[in-house]
Amino acid sequence: MITPRAISACLLLAALALGTLSDALHERAPVILGGYRVLAADFHVHSFPLSGSNLAPWDIVMEARRQGLDAIALTGHDNVWEGRAGRWFSSRFGGPLVLVGEEIHAPGHHVIAVGIHRTISWRLSAAAAIDEVHAQGGIAIAAHPLAGSWPAFAAAMGKLDGTEVVQPTALESEENTAQLRQFYERARAAAIGSSDYHGAGPLGVCRTYVFSRSATEQGILEALRAGRTVVFDRGRIVGDPALIRLAQQDGRLAEPPTPPPGQGLLAALSRTCGLLGLAGIVFFGFRASANGAVPQTGQHSRHSHSARSRGGRGGHAEKTVIEPPSP
Ligand SMILES: [Zn+2]
Ligand SMILES: [Zn+2]
Repeated sequence: MITPRAISACLLLAALALGTLSDALHERAPVILGGYRVLAADFHVHSFPLSGSNLAPWDIVMEARRQGLDAIALTGHDNVWEGRAGRWFSSRFGGPLVLVGEEIHAPGHHVIAVGIHRTISWRLSAAAAIDEVHAQGGIAIAAHPLAGSWPAFAAAMGKLDGTEVVQPTALESEENTAQLRQFYERARAAAIGSSDYHGAGPLGVCRTYVFSRSATEQGILEALRAGRTVVFDRGRIVGDPALIRLAQQDGRLAEPPTPPPGQGLLAALSRTCGLLGLAGIVFFGFRASANGAVPQTGQHSRHSHSARSRGGRGGHAEKTVIEPPSP
């Protein structure tokens, strides 16, 4: 029997599916500059369940597509499982290029590894972790390198392939902005813009434009090693000087609009409420069904019907009114 709760749950699921399908995509035509394919990428993205995000890897892939990103690196906290799941989904169901990554979460520093295959231990020093990233064929990016992490990166400065010069922590204060820029000047590595996405705000709000020879993982990794990136930082453009000139002359590359204050929190609340609401409907729906699912024999049904037809009330009538068996 179809209950109102079941209908409500079906309607909720249909609303979610239709809302997702009808959402506008921020697709853009491929950009080619100076003979390079320019790819919009976010190399620091976290997903559910291991990295404190409220979106699953497959949801992240859909969101990246919606935000017009050509590539993302799913960088699970000390795991590559999230990246593998996202890459599998994107390859089967369509979406941006997904690179398997990890955020190596050491106590004094965080390193973004992109293009790796196995989890790298957070117990390693920054220099040793970066060596392991390179041994796996990947590239290493200093994650949010504020002053507190500089001692840990001291022995690794010549090894880094990239450093986050703009990311959400830079938006928090001028002091943070200055520290990220200072580290970038010293590191002499590719400029990276990343959203450090945990499910709040738009994915790719800070992004990297990669000047790649091809729209492939190997093309992106090669471009990062060669430092061919451009990052927009609130009106300032950082990266390879020749590529910055190309971007300025062309005018198609743009800084994603800064979201209004509180929008990230609202988005996180919306998703969390949606998940809780859906779980509640499903849970209570099943519970109500279980409570009401009294096995009914043909004889029991006749008793109930008989009780109602004679004006009997509830369980008492069911116990006292007995019909003779049918002939
Ligand atoms: Zn981090
Ligand atoms: Zn992170």
